[in-house]
Amino acid sequence: MTGQTNKNGIRTDVGYKRIATEEAFITRELLDIYVKMLKEGSHDDPGFGSLWGFYATNLQAERPRIINERLQDIGERRIADMDAAGIDVAILSLTSPGVQILPRDLAIAQARLANDQLADAVRKYPDRFAGLVAVAPQAPEEAAKELERGIKELGFKGVIINSHTQGEYLSDQKFWPILEAAEACDAPIYLHPNTLPKGMVEPFIECGLDGAIFGFGVETSFHMLRIITSGALDRFPNLKFVLGHLGEALQYWMWRIDYMHEATVRSKRYESLKPLKKKPSDYLKENVWITTSGQQFEPAIKYAQEVLGKDRVMYAMDYPYQYVPQEVADLDNMDMSPEDLKAFYQTNAEKLFKL
Ligand code: CA
Repeated sequence: MTGQTNKNGIRTDVGYKRIATEEAFITRELLDIYVKMLKEGSHDDPGFGSLWGFYATNLQAERPRIINERLQDIGERRIADMDAAGIDVAILSLTSPGVQILPRDLAIAQARLANDQLADAVRKYPDRFAGLVAVAPQAPEEAAKELERGIKELGFKGVIINSHTQGEYLSDQKFWPILEAAEACDAPIYLHPNTLPKGMVEPFIECGLDGAIFGFGVETSFHMLRIITSGALDRFPNLKFVLGHLGEALQYWMWRIDYMHEATVRSKRYESLKPLKKKPSDYLKENVWITTSGQQFEPAIKYAQEVLGKDRVMYAMDYPYQYVPQEVADLDNMDMSPEDLKAFYQTNAEKLFKL
């Protein structure tokens, strides 16, 4: 390999910025609340118990301890990790389930606190960090206001929704004030995984597949599809969604989804499945952008570029959960033109998030 490299052999003269778009953090305050809820058993969410029982209370083990430490740092340690992995800019968001597991009033307060702390970090490192605003969907009107404060006052670039909120989905019209505010602010909604809700999670926990290995993708792709089939994107046609983990695989499904959606609507089998202005895949192509986060698989990235468009596929690392310092060295070497690599790493994210 010619050219300049960092200590891990990652090129530093590639001609593009590497922007990582799905990078997680947590506040000390929210982590303490999770620990308290887990100890007291004051939650009714086995998926949360499985995930955060591991990451928050199991700190003698290596993986949870390191993840826990890294999640809490939005300063020098994170920047050193970014430097080691060749990441120029990280778009930070409150880790799953964010405040969405909390009771309403506590959730509103903790979202504000997290947003204020993140805004401080972005102010301190404006060339390295950008942020997504966290909201409490439990209180849709308050969430809409906090979204607007985050975008207009704190300078955030979008909003993070950690999928379902205590078993409820953004397809439900009670949440549409949030969609309305996001569209009005032209703020992309990053629909990030949550653990499966109570009614779905037990068979996944039973076999150990409830987490990032598979269950997250099932839950989040289902959520995005519910939003599409609810007609929300006919009501808010300029809304922008972002899906991680290479679109949570929805682009692989889209041909059959289109076929079965048309057939099922025509059959009038379900009152809830109504006609849409466009095919489900059209919304996927026009209202949704996707990121790689933890799916560093060249054939799958190219397929996504082919069917969704090269302007729709962006890089994400998914720090700290999948921190692989060598990752970008592999992605730099994808069989792709320099222009396409620059779009993938840099300019698609700059345009969408207005960086
Ligand atoms: Ca993530």
